[in-house]
Amino acid sequence: MKFVDEVVVDVVAGRGGDGCLSFHRGPNMPKGGPDGGNGGKGGDVILVGNGGLGTLVDLRYQHLLKARSGKQGSSNNKTGRNGDDLLVPVPCGTTVIDDDAVFLMGDITEPEQRLVVALGGNNGRGNASFRSSVHRSPRVTTKGEPGESRRIRLQLKVLADVGLFGLPNAGKSTLISRISASKPKIAEYPFTTLVPNLGVVDVAPGQSFVMADIPGLIQGAAEGHGLGTQFLRHLSRTSLLLHLVDAAPIDGSDPLTNHGEIETELFRYSESFREREIWTVLTKIDALAEADVQSLLMQFERAYPERRILAVSAVANRNIDELVRLTGTAVDEMRKRSIEDEVRDTEDRIARDVMRNSLTIESEESGSDGDGPEVFYRRG
Ligand code: GDP
Ligand code: MG
Repeated sequence: MKFVDEVVVDVVAGRGGDGCLSFHRGPNMPKGGPDGGNGGKGGDVILVGNGGLGTLVDLRYQHLLKARSGKQGSSNNKTGRNGDDLLVPVPCGTTVIDDDAVFLMGDITEPEQRLVVALGGNNGRGNASFRSSVHRSPRVTTKGEPGESRRIRLQLKVLADVGLFGLPNAGKSTLISRISASKPKIAEYPFTTLVPNLGVVDVAPGQSFVMADIPGLIQGAAEGHGLGTQFLRHLSRTSLLLHLVDAAPIDGSDPLTNHGEIETELFRYSESFREREIWTVLTKIDALAEADVQSLLMQFERAYPERRILAVSAVANRNIDELVRLTGTAVDEMRKRSIEDEVRDTEDRIARDVMRNSLTIESEESGSDGDGPEVFYRRG
């Protein structure tokens, strides 16, 4: 199941610097030639692929991306400085659409790949550049041109990095709405009745992840009842799972028992979940006295000694920042690991290819019947 993260931003390239009108004046040259320099070129706005980014959330706080203008030319034939380009890091996989004219400008697929989304304005010409044999003292200059400006729409298909599961009322929706900076749209989703609850969580500049919870994980999901199956399949692709448990259920049920029942369901659906990283998050701790929170935590820690267990309250904002920080770090590490795995796979493949090629060359050489000594190969 894919989601689409999307932002709309205005991009404005730099203006070209104006040309300068000037004539050389020196102690012995009261009427020197024209020496007004050209202006500098306006900076471009350029999107640059960045493998470390997972969402577009960093752009959500910048509605206007503006490159620097070129400086004006000056006397003595000095050309104005070019305006610096504005380089905007975007995640690989970003599709760039001109939002006014509605056309596809391009896709950023690779790290370091560049796409100019607003071209800097041409520089103006200084009067020195108009000098010719017939116009020895031109008083003509041109102005720098404005840079391009347009509204662009960036879209990125994302998978959820973190999946939430737990009983209804565990506090999943509340947590997502509490920590999300934005909500991706849903792409390629076959059900219309079952809307996944999603959020892009902004941890720090350059660090973000997508969290998802799809209502419908109810008992019986593992047998294919209800829509839980779809959700479980989705969960199997997220890097980290958070099991949310109500620390103070109103029906008086026992949190540890509830927790155990849900995980039994999960493992019944697929044993592979046993190898996945799952953290347990006790929710709504504002509804319990501190001593009760501690004893509940101890119960869980005893039952699951290997597991990271957190206790939070979304409503009272307790330990939420810590949850976000720890989750963000875990997602980053898992992303890094999966990139390394990919690199290793590629290296393995290259190594295999090299080996295969060298074997081919060897066998071709040994097969050629030249004048060299005859070699017999014996099969071992
Ligand atoms: P979901 O079914 O898992 O998505 O649970 P919801 O997020 O819809 O929450 C279920 C109920 O628990 C709602 O009435 C929430 O207001 C309440 N709730 C959620 N988080 C907290 C919390 O941190 N403290 C308290 N006291 N209530 C909460
Ligand atoms: Mg909900």
